[in-house]
Amino acid sequence: YGMVSCETRASNDQPIYKSSEVAVKDRVADLMSRMTLEEKVAQMAQYVGLEHMKKAEEDLSPEELHNNDALGFYPGLHSSDIAKMTEEGKIGSFLHVISAKEANHLQGLAMKSRLQIPLLIGIDAIHGNGLNYGATIYPTPIGLASTFEEELSYRVGKETAKEMRATGSHWAFTPNIDIARDARWGRVGETFGEDPYLVGNMGVEMIKGFQQDDFTGAEKVIACAKHLIGGGEPLNGTNASPLDLSMRSIREVHLPPYRRAVQEANVFSIMTAHNEVNGIPCHSSKEFMTDIVRKEYGFEGFYVSDWMDIERIHTLHGQAESLDHAFRMSVNNGMDMHMHGPKFTESIVEAVEKGIVPEERVDDAVAKILEVKFRLGLFENPYVLEEKAEEVVFNQEHQATALEIARKSIVLLKNDGILPLPKNKYKKVFITGPNANNETILGDWHWYQPEDRIITVKEGLEAVAKDKGFELDYYNSGEIIGKTTDKAISTAASKASKADIAIVVVGENSLRYDWKNKTCGENTDRAHINLPGRQLELIKAIKKTGTPVVAVLVNGRPIGEEWLEDNMSAVLEAWEPGSFGGQAITEILFGDVNPTAKLPITVPRTVGQVKLYYNHKPSHYFHKYKFTNKDPLYAFGFGLSYTQYEIGNVALDKSKIKGDDTFTVTCGVKNVGKEDGEETVQVYIRDDYSSVTRPVKELKAYKKVALKAGESKSVSFELTTQDLAFFDQNMEWGVEKGAFTIMVGNSSRDKDLKKVKLEVSETKKLNLN
Ligand code: BGC
Repeated sequence: YGMVSCETRASNDQPIYKSSEVAVKDRVADLMSRMTLEEKVAQMAQYVGLEHMKKAEEDLSPEELHNNDALGFYPGLHSSDIAKMTEEGKIGSFLHVISAKEANHLQGLAMKSRLQIPLLIGIDAIHGNGLNYGATIYPTPIGLASTFEEELSYRVGKETAKEMRATGSHWAFTPNIDIARDARWGRVGETFGEDPYLVGNMGVEMIKGFQQDDFTGAEKVIACAKHLIGGGEPLNGTNASPLDLSMRSIREVHLPPYRRAVQEANVFSIMTAHNEVNGIPCHSSKEFMTDIVRKEYGFEGFYVSDWMDIERIHTLHGQAESLDHAFRMSVNNGMDMHMHGPKFTESIVEAVEKGIVPEERVDDAVAKILEVKFRLGLFENPYVLEEKAEEVVFNQEHQATALEIARKSIVLLKNDGILPLPKNKYKKVFITGPNANNETILGDWHWYQPEDRIITVKEGLEAVAKDKGFELDYYNSGEIIGKTTDKAISTAASKASKADIAIVVVGENSLRYDWKNKTCGENTDRAHINLPGRQLELIKAIKKTGTPVVAVLVNGRPIGEEWLEDNMSAVLEAWEPGSFGGQAITEILFGDVNPTAKLPITVPRTVGQVKLYYNHKPSHYFHKYKFTNKDPLYAFGFGLSYTQYEIGNVALDKSKIKGDDTFTVTCGVKNVGKEDGEETVQVYIRDDYSSVTRPVKELKAYKKVALKAGESKSVSFELTTQDLAFFDQNMEWGVEKGAFTIMVGNSSRDKDLKKVKLEVSETKKLNLN
């Protein structure tokens, strides 16, 4: 009889790695000891899902398919090849598997491979698992950030994880914690805006929601902080354009959310950015991947490349002379997984054999990828119950969260008193505009969704018309791009003239499947930030009739359209509010919900002001523009309510601090209006004199306070010297002695802030924490 070595067999005669009784570390080691080099490198190779591939094969001619570099389809690579490779154990991971059925099919193929290693399936579940049919679609991240409630970000992560696992995915390519500093950039909507502190808070909580404590078990997924680094500040506003950024700016503005994602939430994957920084494509950057984030911050997870980007080190950037050179450079500098495409595995195997890539580098990467698969429980059960998906996806609880966030994410930008619309006052309400009755409210990163899971603005109004005592007249004035005719504009105006009030829903279109008409979203950047197409003409024609107009904006990035501020009775920034957007907008219009949201990003007046952000340096606006106001159209942190608040005097518990001291800032806040509401009190700091110039203000704390009409409360915030620290001339972190201004208020505008002075009595290096 054969001897079974206790090193290779567990007691039940299974290989050790198959036993759930054994510690993950040992399972990983056991499995790796059985793997050939090819099998190991295969774990680092990810491919796009078969349905996705098949769809592209059906929709596009072979020339279109293979000539379109951006689509990532390669001559000679078909869905059938990918299926075969999966059976042969040549693929470790997939992206964009769009149903439970497909996930099961792929796992079934992987189970035919020699070692039966399950697949890790990733998906862009940016605001809900929207690439799957029927998913709950939450407001896009820019709307989520407008709530200033990171607990909601946690819930989005947690609920999305459940919907993902129910449909066979294990890895969310989110949160996007890029700092968005350029309104021309089409991806602003998938970020949490421009402030490093707010972005960090939202990102950390979302990661915790996805991963929970340790991403062990069947309802959690791993998150992916992306994109390292700087892509939210593209040179010309276009996605992936190069950046020349100082290390100071990178360390103080762009990296903090990544440091926190690693240190506070143990994010288990990071995606590198499309762009280059200071001459080095991020996909080949040892400095960011290995030296800073892995070694300095202690990142324990793995890196994944972004679509086509390792290839582009060669084909676009010209830093690598060949694809082989690019793959090897990237892996040697810290990359752990290659997103979609052939040749990677062969290239890395050969490189290890020739000593160009150390085998330990491959082992490091593979050990982490396998660790994830074990912890997620995939070796115990790689499949999902297709029938069960229905119970989890778009369940009541998730719907309620999506609606709650939508209500809290819509920012009231202007109101001359027309809102809230009183019940029974307006007999005839006219609604029009390209975004009044379509899926643009869902934003980017979803695929076709069932109509009965979306409430458009028109439908939201329709649902309450009887109760609120009005008759609704809807007119489809055409789409943003191309289809708004002169006749449509004059018809809309004539209908508006017969109504008591007009609601015009305008903005942008981020729908991925509407490629020709898209004005916003990934790879849809604009050189303008006004309303695209003929939307302003439409509104002007309606306004001319004398009927009061409320503009509702549905868009994924700031719209700089001063005319609206000057001429509308009210302006509501709805962002892309998700499945229940139309209901939430209606509730706000009628005052059933009192708006509480605040802008997480500055809205410029004109594209010429870009880049415009609140935490700028003192000399940024020393000289003004000749004919244009230098101030933003709407400031970071700004947002109105149906009531008014007063911030009372601000006091500190100490006037002087040093070392690692903490201090408390207290202020009163009073609801001086007639409605109950919630106000977000914000604390900013400024170092008045310093060895390195400092921003005019930086957000360090905020709190949302519920106040009944007439009620006042005292709010306090605890800060530390860490909040006053920065990188000095030697790039060392610390606080400098001298005067600081502490500002408290309900927006970042100077006129909304009360100030108090604090003195720091000694200069001190600090440990960055
Ligand atoms: C985006 C990533 C995304 C990936 C996969 C890329 O183009 O930059 O954010 O995760 O595609 O869809």
